[in-house]
Amino acid sequence: MSKIIETHAHLYAEELKEDICELIENAQLAGVEKFVMPNVDETSIDGMMELEAKHPGVCYSSMGLHPCYVKKDFEKQLYLVEDWLNKRKFVSVGEIGIDLHWDKTTLAWQEEALKIQLRLAAKHQLPVILHTRNAFKETYDLIKALALPELKGVFHCFSGTVEEAQDAIALGFQLGIGGVVTFKNGGLDKVVADLPIESLVLETDCPYLAPIPHRGKRNEPSFIAIVAHKVAEVKKLSVEEVIHTTTTNAKQLFYAL
Ligand SMILES: [Zn+2]
Repeated sequence: MSKIIETHAHLYAEELKEDICELIENAQLAGVEKFVMPNVDETSIDGMMELEAKHPGVCYSSMGLHPCYVKKDFEKQLYLVEDWLNKRKFVSVGEIGIDLHWDKTTLAWQEEALKIQLRLAAKHQLPVILHTRNAFKETYDLIKALALPELKGVFHCFSGTVEEAQDAIALGFQLGIGGVVTFKNGGLDKVVADLPIESLVLETDCPYLAPIPHRGKRNEPSFIAIVAHKVAEVKKLSVEEVIHTTTTNAKQLFYAL
């Protein structure tokens, strides 16, 4: 049986702190081999790296500034991100992107922060973890215009259309599929049915976005097995095939894993 790569887990989150070791063990029992932890802002760095140090070869840190945390001082925050990228090795740059769900007024800052971080990823030859919410087109257009030929990454928590998925794939990106695929009227199950398994990676985005039957509750990294089963069901593949292929995809993308 192949092992799962959990490509998006905020394991350092306050909501998971109390029983994090048990949660990691449970996920390992559910078949997870490695976890990618995306950073959020300067306040999440220490907790992330502590977990990585405690679980070497299991938990991997990513470095970046999340679009929801791009504020007036974003340039200062990005110097910190750049400093860390120069100082040590990370598995990827992220999570970065554009979010127009929570705050549209910061769009210009978000675009600038995304450009800077995409260039940093290219410079360090690292993949990127993209967060886009109500902003697929803005993100896609910006990446395309930057034209960084070696750039690779994942549209984390992908929940767009088949056409958007094809655009992302043509750009050299993978699509991160999580709990939303289990939601009854989300429609993502029908989209995923039409996407090539060679372009998908699995994630939970824990502690957020728990899959059915845990929707609305705390999401745990072991719930990734539910996502794998759902993807297998909608794509009419065996669970083993889904896990084997998505793990291969994840290792090609996050080559340090
Ligand atoms: Zn995230």
